[in-house]
Amino acid sequence: MKTIGLLGGMSWESTVTYYQIINETIKARLGGLHSAKIYLHSVDFAEIEKHQSKGEWDKSAVILSKAAKSLEQAGADYIVICTNTMHKVAPDIEKEINIPIVHIADATAEELQKDGIKRVALLGTKYTMTQDFYKQRIQARGIEVMIPDAEDVDIVNQVIYDELCLGKISSDSRKEFVRIIAGLQDEGAEGVILGCTEIGLLIGKEDSSLPVYDTAQIHARVAALKSLE
Ligand code: GLU
Repeated sequence: MKTIGLLGGMSWESTVTYYQIINETIKARLGGLHSAKIYLHSVDFAEIEKHQSKGEWDKSAVILSKAAKSLEQAGADYIVICTNTMHKVAPDIEKEINIPIVHIADATAEELQKDGIKRVALLGTKYTMTQDFYKQRIQARGIEVMIPDAEDVDIVNQVIYDELCLGKISSDSRKEFVRIIAGLQDEGAEGVILGCTEIGLLIGKEDSSLPVYDTAQIHARVAALKSLE
């Protein structure tokens, strides 16, 4: 079994999900007392968020590259960055290490392709929804990506940073997400990407009028299965 290098803490609320799903996937495949071989480097998310809000992506890239290098040196066979947003600096991290990064957008796009989804709604941080680094990888596979209007982008972003990353789950916010998903469905979306690793803590397939693609779950499962290749 290969060893997974998790780059987590962004936020730790969703790194918990990764740890759990990776181990559940290994248990389901191998049975008995089997569990995943994992190194975890968990950063202080306050530092990362501060750089995000100032647009200092280069500074976050330095922190995460150093963390990824330490995972490589410890013996990890590949890196799993447990956040969608910070994949913005994945190309910078890749330059500093000699092991691969399992990209969250690629893992998600493969699921969408398997299901024949051609138009998908994307919910995530404002960076993930409005910038190109993430959407491009989905669009490159011939899938159209739809995002909410500016007002709803702000609502989704605020719920992520002010609630979900702090472990707050609010039924009012759930209603807002359900409303936003239904609106994107009316505009032609065939599925919705939960493109922030904490959104799955707020809504699941039972809440959504569209098929749900939870990036934390998809990414963690792909990461786990890769350890058995
Ligand atoms: N975990 C979130 C994501 O998947 C947001 C936190 C972050 O900015 O990294 O994008």
